[in-house]
Amino acid sequence: MRGLIFTGDRVAEVRDFDQLDPGPGEVRVKIRSSGMCGSDLNTYRKPASDLANTVKRPGHEPCGEIEAVGAGVTEVQIGDRVIVHHYLGCGHCRYCRQGYNQLCLNPGPDNLYYGGSEHGGHGESLICAARVCVRLPDELSFDEGAMVACGTSTAYLGLTKMDISGRDTIAIFGQGPVGLAGTMLAKAMGSRVIAVDLSDARLQLGRDAGADELVNPKYGDVTEQIKALTHGEGADASLEAAGAQATRKASCTSVKVFGRTAWVGEQGEVVLQPTPDIIHRHLTIHGSWTVSMFGLEETAQFVVDRKIPLQNMVTERVDIENAVDAYQRFDKQDTGKMVISWD
Ligand SMILES: [Zn+2]
Ligand SMILES: [Zn+2]
Repeated sequence: MRGLIFTGDRVAEVRDFDQLDPGPGEVRVKIRSSGMCGSDLNTYRKPASDLANTVKRPGHEPCGEIEAVGAGVTEVQIGDRVIVHHYLGCGHCRYCRQGYNQLCLNPGPDNLYYGGSEHGGHGESLICAARVCVRLPDELSFDEGAMVACGTSTAYLGLTKMDISGRDTIAIFGQGPVGLAGTMLAKAMGSRVIAVDLSDARLQLGRDAGADELVNPKYGDVTEQIKALTHGEGADASLEAAGAQATRKASCTSVKVFGRTAWVGEQGEVVLQPTPDIIHRHLTIHGSWTVSMFGLEETAQFVVDRKIPLQNMVTERVDIENAVDAYQRFDKQDTGKMVISWD
């Protein structure tokens, strides 16, 4: 079977892998769509020396069909359409029982990460534990399931932590795959959305996804631009999906007094002045890291019930043989969602 590997310094390679059979409690998922996530770029950009011994396929947004089941599997059967939650966990600690396998309290052999410590979705098939499979609703495509697997549900959890509603104007920093999903979901929750990005191409995607206002920091101070759109006060809330120092700071300074922000963009640093930026403005900052197993189901159901056209976010689908070039384009960070597809 064919699969992708990152070899470091922005180089990827398609290789042959053995097709394996699932062990007890495991399934083999025939991958139909595997999302390329912004956080994959962090690995893609690492120096070759850091990835010298890497043999695992990336891809933590796998979606497909069960094609083989191991001994004792009762959760799913052959032919089921599933989204793979990409963390395993021990399955019985407090956080695993809440479905937050990524927060597992028991470090050990079960602390696996599909698309990191284990093979991920960027290959023809994936062996994973049956208990991390979440049913893909019939109404959703495999691409949409892949998006729900990480990016879209990450945006969903950040928005729900802030209790976003029709009374809110929300500024969404970053209109990459996570921010763009945030724009669609926040619109479906009734909010007025101000989309923020440095790329005019991505802002246009934000507009197509339903954003009411577009702000490009290239054309002036972003906090001032947002205040000009909100009676001089700032937005009610913000979602930080860019993960940059400047956008993290602006996600705080561009919301009004008693405002709230949720940070989902990873890596890097930020410098804030507690008194003027947070304390005197009664600001609430939520950290939010992906989603629980139940959160995946809830996000998928929300997308179905609100008829959110998630598929429109996909600006490019490539087959595995063209995934190397696709990562070069994705690395420029001005595309919409890109997926590796076997459909
Ligand atoms: Zn991700
Ligand atoms: Zn656990």
